[in-house]
Amino acid sequence: MQFSALRDQKLIIASHNKGKVREIADLLAPFGLDVISAGELNLPEPEETGLTYIENAELKALAAAKAANLPALADDSGLSVNALGGAPGIYSARWAGSDKDFDHAMRRVADALLLSGTTDRTAEFVCALTLAWPDGKKLSFEGRVAGTIVWPARGDKGFGYDPIFVPTGHTITFGEMDPDKKHAMSHRAIAFDKLVSHLKSEMT
Ligand code: IMP
Repeated sequence: MQFSALRDQKLIIASHNKGKVREIADLLAPFGLDVISAGELNLPEPEETGLTYIENAELKALAAAKAANLPALADDSGLSVNALGGAPGIYSARWAGSDKDFDHAMRRVADALLLSGTTDRTAEFVCALTLAWPDGKKLSFEGRVAGTIVWPARGDKGFGYDPIFVPTGHTITFGEMDPDKKHAMSHRAIAFDKLVSHLKSEMT
């Protein structure tokens, strides 16, 4: 299966998170695909019952692909903070509560780090991407980007925990970074590049 084979039909971005949908659409833009989000199609949001990023990405992609009878690309991602034993991890969205308040979620991370009593501020963003088809076929890849947590939060670009994450080798947070620059190095871009490389290798 190649990207060119995805051109004959719509591809669903299996997410209801506007920040993610925007970033995935930007990554897909060079391929000229006809994309539509699960939100626009009013597809139900499946419960994220998996215990790993990949399990959750697979269940979201398969649910959307089967419900709409179209190929679907899903992302499951999160922020893993080393001094917090990897939390919030796969529960990153849930730390923001039902009203999706990421100021609250970022403060929770900062407070938990203070309470941890360590000076370790290392963390990573992790992203699992799954491309699934209605017949149950699926491809999954994972990307990670290392960095440190800063407080107070800085910047109003991006989404989620971007304003408290400084990627290694940089001095500004993802929240202060231009989207193009984030897309060149993010966990999502790394997973996406692996998916594209795989699809290209199937052409040869
Ligand atoms: P889920 O994959 O729907 O469980 O949600 C993942 C959550 O992780 C998002 O709601 C964000 O809070 C956070 N997250 C994932 N990727 C990023 C990113 O690139 N920047 C900031 N936060 C992110």
